[in-house]
Amino acid sequence: EGFVRLGLAPELVRAVRDLGYTQPTAVQEKAIPMAMGTDDEAGRFIDLMVSSQTGSGKTAAFLLPVLHTLIRQQAEQQAHERAEYERLCAEAAAKGEAPPKRSKRKDPTNPRNFKAAVPGALVLCPTRELAQQVAHDAIELVKHCRGLRIANVVGGIPYQLQIAKLQNANLVVATPGRLLDLQRSMQIKLDQVQFLVVDEADRMLDLGFSDDLAEINELTSQRQQTMMFSATFAPRIQQLAMRVMHDNGASVK
Ligand code: AMP
Repeated sequence: EGFVRLGLAPELVRAVRDLGYTQPTAVQEKAIPMAMGTDDEAGRFIDLMVSSQTGSGKTAAFLLPVLHTLIRQQAEQQAHERAEYERLCAEAAAKGEAPPKRSKRKDPTNPRNFKAAVPGALVLCPTRELAQQVAHDAIELVKHCRGLRIANVVGGIPYQLQIAKLQNANLVVATPGRLLDLQRSMQIKLDQVQFLVVDEADRMLDLGFSDDLAEINELTSQRQQTMMFSATFAPRIQQLAMRVMHDNGASVK
């Protein structure tokens, strides 16, 4: 089956099947393996520039590889924590002590427990409507994944409501302006972002977001993977790519 062959996590293959997708679209077939590929000994994921129209399945083409890696990383982290806990239990048992208590998760709705959101992945969209659609698609795709959280950051929604949902988000879908507002007020930290997706880059430029994108790119990890999706590869898009991507990017047409 098409999505299994792409090497995606079983939770994602199930979600895709639930949505009724039987085969990857052309852009998914090309972009997903490339986005999951690494190009150096350090295992850095390659940057991608993808030319794609709305309706081509482009949203899943960037969400699936990003979610796949987030799932893998979370599983590794949990295995590590479990091993560490078992080691502490064995140590305690050897000394004839009771097993250590597991730390409790703090109630995120209590203001005393406030901490800034630290997402691992960021998708930037030119409009609020598109960001909401992409977040909606992401929520569908993670429905079989325990513990992966999606947040939507757009203008026009009460601040407090967004912040409450934002705190434990692994993937944030945002419009650039509101994201920078939250970053400046220290509600969100971007230095752990490993995956940066710029959706509809051509519309981003039309709407004057070029400087915001460059600013966001400065705030994210220097070793992140950047994926830019655009209807065209016009020279002005290439210029934007030079501002936000590493020099080893690959193009998918
Ligand atoms: P997009 O280009 O991301 O706006 O997607 C266009 C539409 O295609 C959306 O309604 C998706 O749910 C749908 N879609 C995405 N991937 C597939 C697929 N592999 N098979 C069938 N439909 C899909």
